[in-house]
Amino acid sequence: MPHELHVLNPATEELVATVPAATPADVDTAVTRAATAQRAWAALAPADRARALRRFASVVDAHVEELALLEVREAGHTLGNARWEAGNVRDLLDYAAGGAERLNGRQIPVPGGLDLTILEPLGVIGVIAPWNFPMPIAAWATAPALAAGNAVVLKPAETTPLTALRLAELALDAGLPEHLFQVLPGEGPVAGAALVDHPGVAKVVFTGSTRVGKQIMARAADQVKRVTLELGGKSPNIVFADADLEAAAAAAPMSFLDNSGQDCCARTRILVQRGVYDRFLELLTPAIEEIVVGDPLDERTQMGPLISRAQLDRVRAYVDGAAGHGDAVRGKAPEGPGFWFPPTLLTGVPEDAPCAVEEIFGPVAVVLPFEDEADAIRLANATPYGLSGSLWTRDIGRALRASRAVRAGNLSVNSHSSVRYWTPFGGFGQSGLGRELGPDALTAFTETKNVFISTEA
Ligand code: NAD
Repeated sequence: MPHELHVLNPATEELVATVPAATPADVDTAVTRAATAQRAWAALAPADRARALRRFASVVDAHVEELALLEVREAGHTLGNARWEAGNVRDLLDYAAGGAERLNGRQIPVPGGLDLTILEPLGVIGVIAPWNFPMPIAAWATAPALAAGNAVVLKPAETTPLTALRLAELALDAGLPEHLFQVLPGEGPVAGAALVDHPGVAKVVFTGSTRVGKQIMARAADQVKRVTLELGGKSPNIVFADADLEAAAAAAPMSFLDNSGQDCCARTRILVQRGVYDRFLELLTPAIEEIVVGDPLDERTQMGPLISRAQLDRVRAYVDGAAGHGDAVRGKAPEGPGFWFPPTLLTGVPEDAPCAVEEIFGPVAVVLPFEDEADAIRLANATPYGLSGSLWTRDIGRALRASRAVRAGNLSVNSHSSVRYWTPFGGFGQSGLGRELGPDALTAFTETKNVFISTEA
């Protein structure tokens, strides 16, 4: 069993850092310490927890640039994206702090007494994060969990532990109690599995692949452990014939190329109504070819590298597998070193081809024609996933009908925007279980207790 994780810069393949990998014994120590810290934290007045989290937010704010540069080095994100991500952590902490002060139970009318609901923190939350958005996703669970009075033990992905480790240091600098928020880099099947199995962990929030999410859900079942799962996606971008085609074509590239396509919400199935299919491809093709791929630190860069050689091989295998079944439009990418793959559009492939229904997690989209609204909905729903989706139309009735009919947790009309820290986020079907972000984020980290007090003597 290796005891170290080697963090590589995906744009250069240079070694950025070597980090010790946590063992199951390390997980046990962390959870035990977290449980002690949690009891004291939960006993604080909500306003005191809120104040501490706002301090944490302001320390993060003072380190946005440093965190962003670290994210660029360990994950290959463009600098602009990485700055947004560090800012998102700050905003989430701030938003969750407000939630701590507004997390209230209810009083429900009952005959013969008083009925109260009490929202109690769960205890220690195990957070298992992926590498594609290491900072924001760590904070999506951590901020509301802490605000609701819990402690967090976070296991970042093997390839991207550095920003999470730095966030844990900043939490201490901000005066958060020791052991309340701990980061344990480690391997999924070792440290991740130990966190899921630990009886002291009340809930697991897992963000990652559907394959591992299923394993975690099965594992957690033994203790009826609470789980939130944020899993994969293969999201549609539906362009109806009545849409503003120029706007739809201009927005389509970055809807699947942002973060080099390593985005669970990437709109990788571009569904275009038959009558405008050729025109739409004419508009889209040059836009794909002109995407600037290269040095993530260069402010003009629109797309960086993939995270690893394994991911590069996976993406290449999907595209090679589609060869002979259709055509490909390819953009430009550097040769290497670094894990580069060009923006790629696959056309003319069968609608059930692996590249059309499976999550590739790279800068690759398929374009498929559809006949009418019913056919568009059928195609949009033709995967086991249901995370995101976009609809482009000028017909408000169609926009509303299709929004009801597409089975996905996060839809946008004439836009690809699906993630805001103050609106709910999560998947239908095999894209996940539960919701994060938004006004109810804190209640996902509480257990509701109902108390009846008799008023009869
Ligand atoms: P992954 O499933 O390989 O790994 C995710 C995390 O799980 C890592 O920290 C890994 O170490 C850990 N892990 C692996 N095996 C484990 C095990 N047996 N027990 C416990 N933990 C284990 O996913 P990834 O490749 O890091 O991330 C990409 C995936 O994440 C994509 O499928 C993407 O769609 C998904 N994702 C979903 C969302 C969302 O909000 N729905 C957001 C981002 C990423």
